[in-house]
Amino acid sequence: IYILAIESSCDDTAAAVMCNAQILSNVVANQKIHEAYGGVVPELASRAHQQHIVPVVDQALKKAKIDKSQLSAIAFTRGPGLMGSLLVGTSFAKSLAYGLGIPLIDVNHMQAHILAHFIEEKDFNKPPFPFLALTISGGHTQIVKVNDHFDMEVIGETIDDAVGEAFDKSGKLLGLGYPAGPEIDKRAKLGNPKAFKFTKPKVDGLNFSFSGLKTAILYFVQKQVKANPNFIEERLNDICASIQYTIIGILMDKLKLASKQTGITHIAIGGGVSANSGIREALKQSEAKFGWTTYIPKFEYTTDNAAMIAIVGHLKYLKGEYAQQNVMASARLKI
Ligand code: ATP
Ligand code: FE
Repeated sequence: IYILAIESSCDDTAAAVMCNAQILSNVVANQKIHEAYGGVVPELASRAHQQHIVPVVDQALKKAKIDKSQLSAIAFTRGPGLMGSLLVGTSFAKSLAYGLGIPLIDVNHMQAHILAHFIEEKDFNKPPFPFLALTISGGHTQIVKVNDHFDMEVIGETIDDAVGEAFDKSGKLLGLGYPAGPEIDKRAKLGNPKAFKFTKPKVDGLNFSFSGLKTAILYFVQKQVKANPNFIEERLNDICASIQYTIIGILMDKLKLASKQTGITHIAIGGGVSANSGIREALKQSEAKFGWTTYIPKFEYTTDNAAMIAIVGHLKYLKGEYAQQNVMASARLKI
């Protein structure tokens, strides 16, 4: 089974080719244009997808050393994401599937961040069901009870900002580039996580909130800079380490509660922020601390990629779950 997968939900144009759940190629074109604006500009993202999609798909097929006539199906991200971005991948996938006369398969991006764990996994049963998935990304922060590949329940989520936004917005006010998550991660390794204390938000149950933290960091930095104009420069690593430490604490507290409430001890993470070395480390340590079995995705399957779309395409192909030509992109698609 050869699947060509296309991902264009936000600012990365990606294509991957998969053969029987093995990745043959996984191509991502990042859009540098947004850096100058400190965040993704939807209209520019859509235009860049238009420019990238043909060469990216071509390259994925070339790297996989297959011809498009060998493809069994085309999988694409239907949502959630930016409408203008989603439309490019959706229209492209529809036309290609129609032209080749092969099935079209629609994929939910947030399910894909979770199902990425099954790439190259024999029998697709590791992590074993049911497991908990903490999906942390640029637009989402969710705890999902995964009963089966396509039977998922969101049991907790953010009531305001996503955790990726917390990283990016904190980074922005420290003068870091976009996205700031990877840079904060790098600097956090060189700083003292307990140098500064930020209070954790009080949110009931399994939900999250990150907008208060962002404001707290803003006020803290403003106050310090008033007293010492070089504060950010001098203490950047310590600030980054403290922010990251606080965020990881918030995530781990909720995961612990979710595990306690559900009795589930198989815990997976996914999404762009799961690339963070601190959260990866904290999760590993939780195995000895709480008796969990944890699942950490390969680095290249954390931020947006089409390999994760391909595995969902493969699993749906096995079930014969195809989309019709009139399928529409959906910016707010739910899990
Ligand atoms: P969504 O998946 O919710 O639609 P998205 O697709 O835009 O959002 P992803 O590509 O999954 O988001 O993740 C991007 C986010 O991950 C950005 O906010 C980025 O800062 C963050 N990120 C990437 N690497 C790291 C890291 N090492 N540490 C912290 N955050 C990181
Ligand atoms: Fe994503």
